[in-house]
Amino acid sequence: MKSNTSRRNILQGFIVTAVVVGFDPVNRSWITSANAAQSFVNLPHLDGVIYTDDATRANAADDFGHLVYRLPKAVLKPGSIQDIVRIIQFARQNNLKIAARGQGHSCYGQALLEAGLVIDMSPLNKIHHLSADRVVVEAGVVWSQLLQATLKQQLTPPVLTDYIELSIGGTLSLGGIGGASHRYGVQVDNVLELQIVTGKGKLETCSPYQNCDLFEAVLAGLGQCGIIVRATIRLIKAFTNVRVFLLDYDNLDTFTHDQRLLIADERFNYVEGQVVSDTKGGWRYMLEAASFYTPPNQPDNTSLLASLSYTPGTEQIEDKSYFDFLNRLAESVAYLKSINIWSNPHPWINLFVPSTAVKQYVGKIVSTLTLADTGNGPILLYPVKTDRFKLPLFRTPNEPVVFLFAILRTAPLDDATVRKMLDENRKFFEKNRDLGGTRYPVDAIKFSDSDWKQQFGPVWGRLVSAKRRYDPDNLLTPGQGIF
Ligand SMILES: Cc1cc2nc3c(=O)[nH]c(=O)nc-3n(C[C@H](O)[C@H](O)[C@H](O)COP(=O)(O)OP(=O)(O)OC[C@H]3O[C@@H](n4cnc5c(N)ncnc54)[C@H](O)[C@@H]3O)c2cc1C
Repeated sequence: MKSNTSRRNILQGFIVTAVVVGFDPVNRSWITSANAAQSFVNLPHLDGVIYTDDATRANAADDFGHLVYRLPKAVLKPGSIQDIVRIIQFARQNNLKIAARGQGHSCYGQALLEAGLVIDMSPLNKIHHLSADRVVVEAGVVWSQLLQATLKQQLTPPVLTDYIELSIGGTLSLGGIGGASHRYGVQVDNVLELQIVTGKGKLETCSPYQNCDLFEAVLAGLGQCGIIVRATIRLIKAFTNVRVFLLDYDNLDTFTHDQRLLIADERFNYVEGQVVSDTKGGWRYMLEAASFYTPPNQPDNTSLLASLSYTPGTEQIEDKSYFDFLNRLAESVAYLKSINIWSNPHPWINLFVPSTAVKQYVGKIVSTLTLADTGNGPILLYPVKTDRFKLPLFRTPNEPVVFLFAILRTAPLDDATVRKMLDENRKFFEKNRDLGGTRYPVDAIKFSDSDWKQQFGPVWGRLVSAKRRYDPDNLLTPGQGIF
């Protein structure tokens, strides 16, 4: 029965390959029905399929950054949560490294591994129970799929990332920040319960009230202690429409002053901002704020814009549906794909900068930056309130307000420029670290053991003991380079 299912799935995918039947722990190789003569350890029953063909492995060897390439020996497309339990137990017995892969949108090999087994989470894509204040989803679901389902009930997750084609497991292992974070924290702050397969191969349920230690070790835990297989996510009432305000500033101080004001009084539902190029080869600032509403109610533009010091007459105001607003990157991504730029290297840098250092730090960087340094990629700069962040492993500077500062670079296909950008990332990181800043580790910065210790600071010991407890053989997520 098992091998019939496997064979059928493989043929449906038009991949001509033999069925994996076991693993040879001596030669460290997967055994297929084609080379099953030698001795090997039998694979446990799986509802899904393990692939060892070149195309599937090559796909799992690369990510959105296109900066590192690590070829796994096999890829599991699980057919059930139990598959993940079984394969981790099997990996423990055979000393195999494991990495979960959501949508592979990290930049520096975070979901990659050399030689081991990648679990492609995308087949675990069911939305289970949707009720008035929560939804239970599998970790391979992408946020756009979840949002479409919740909006049918006029509900929404409180916080969404700028790009919503990311997996739930992927963003929950990092944090998940967006324009509503000044109100609701990051996505991990809106999780009510999780199902995890730990590095011991145990399926565990955890929440703030049950196995809290595991809950706190996994959310923003960079995949070190367990694989998220299901999440219960808080929902709130959704508005149908959004009024978007784009406001121009030519001065960093005024721009950040107004952003701080807006997140303090919470007059908007959504606040972000960008450093954008001006026509003279320099930079200006664009505040992006949005007010959510459901007609016949309408936002009051005058009171929303009161006491803001943007350049008069520059405001752009546009109404959109709630979904179109949250899905607004889809059009640009389709365009970048159509001109083959989306597949260029992405040496991104994503930092949290203490509010007190923003003027000095960001001001200095922006004064030296050119469009060539960003490859026309966006530069994000927006504040959030740290009292909204509840999870210990989501690391931000120790100030009430911190700024996300992200240079989302696109590099040309030229190794020297990529190296230069990566070196610059490291310099920018160090300067920010010396000012009390932290890194948001979705990006591409070379990190040493001591950098990780410093990044986790007072909770480093906690992460180490959670790792020992839940992944004692150190199987999980080597691509982060922490253990
Ligand atoms: C265009 C674009 C826009 C973005 N915008 C934002 C944004 O606005 N806000 C924001 O916060 N981030 C943003 N990001 C970063 C994004 O959140 C991370 O890159 C995230 O990791 C992507 O999710 P993914 O499904 O691709 O994860 P992957 O890259 O596949 O995985 C990321 C890490 O999580 C681990 N992992 C994956 N699934 C699981 C699981 N189920 N259990 C445990 N560990 C797992 C992986 O092993 C890896 O270490 C953006 C990225 C892109 C490319």
